[in-house]
Amino acid sequence: FAPWADPGAKPYISFENVTKKFGDFIAVNDLSLNIYEREFFALLGASGCGKSTLLRMLAGFDEPTSGRILLDGQDLRGIPPYRRPVNMMFQSYALFPHMTVEGNIAFGLKQDNMPKAEIEARVKEMLRLVKLEQFAKRKPHQLSGGQRQRVALARSVAKRPKVLLLDEPLGALDKKLREETQFELMDLQQSLGLTFVVVTHDQEEAMTMADRIAILDKGEVMQVATPAEVYEAPGSRFVAGFVGNVNMFEGRVAARDAGIARITGASGAEIIVENAGDAETGNAVSFAIRPEKIKVSSRRPEGAVNAMEGEVFDLAYLGDMTVYHVRLDDGQVVKASSLNASRVTEDPLTWNDRAWISFPPDAGVVLTR
Ligand code: ATP
Repeated sequence: FAPWADPGAKPYISFENVTKKFGDFIAVNDLSLNIYEREFFALLGASGCGKSTLLRMLAGFDEPTSGRILLDGQDLRGIPPYRRPVNMMFQSYALFPHMTVEGNIAFGLKQDNMPKAEIEARVKEMLRLVKLEQFAKRKPHQLSGGQRQRVALARSVAKRPKVLLLDEPLGALDKKLREETQFELMDLQQSLGLTFVVVTHDQEEAMTMADRIAILDKGEVMQVATPAEVYEAPGSRFVAGFVGNVNMFEGRVAARDAGIARITGASGAEIIVENAGDAETGNAVSFAIRPEKIKVSSRRPEGAVNAMEGEVFDLAYLGDMTVYHVRLDDGQVVKASSLNASRVTEDPLTWNDRAWISFPPDAGVVLTR
């Protein structure tokens, strides 16, 4: 499933040069973005970056100041929320407390004057979908947070919208339940064949669920890519730093030959990298590398192209992995993690030990922006 990779594929939702101003304040700035049918799409960004505003404009609660939003080729301007094939699930679920689970799910269908027998069948189907058949007669206060979340979900897909918008859908759940629910949401989206657009500030959540992620900052799109691309090939320092842990080596391209570049840091330390992107000789660049791509060892690894010496000044055993903070001799602190795949650590290092970090030339990316 990768319609975005097909140049002939027609986007289902398009934001075209959308700007949204509140008074003088620009919440969304000339933003363009395509989302494809049946895609699970995440809008990821820090508080205030404009993600909810994008969702609200898609739902019809707000209109763009300029630019347009198309859904299946139709310009949405002026179309009221209830006439858009879009439904929104809010962070606060907003279940009716005096109604049973069934009643909550049936509410919108009744308002649409759907025949009674059809409503019953649809409610049953929805209860099965979210695995709440035996809770049909309960009221929201008799449910757990996760169950309430599923009722809200069932209610928001009962009318079979084409697009479901989810604003921080898992924000109220604890970590364990959130992880479970992420997979449930993905299953639900698959089985219903809907397009999901989810807003979140939680990068792990976006990485887990989404086919693609748009990373937003100050009302602008910084990058749109699959979770793997965002993590492995961030296009800018902002994206590299926003998603996951990263080490940044600052330096200048001393030489470049085809794909290989030699980067010299302020302290004179050198790094040899492949995939230097568009960096040219003389450019100030950052070399971004994830902690798990860095090996820590007590001796200089034989044949290592990139190796630097320092001292372990922090170390955390996290069960599945161990995280090391190594202070290099030039002062830079490097975070490295290694999986604890076997019970025996072959190279035990501890606080204040001398240590070498090393990594192959293709382990990170060179960033000019
Ligand atoms: P959060 O994760 O905190 O919900 P967000 O990325 O969803 O943040 P938005 O709610 O889209 O952010 O808001 C973007 C910016 O626009 C914020 O700075 C916010 O203060 C501003 N804003 C949103 N709605 C209004 C409004 N009705 N009037 C004035 N400013 C607004």
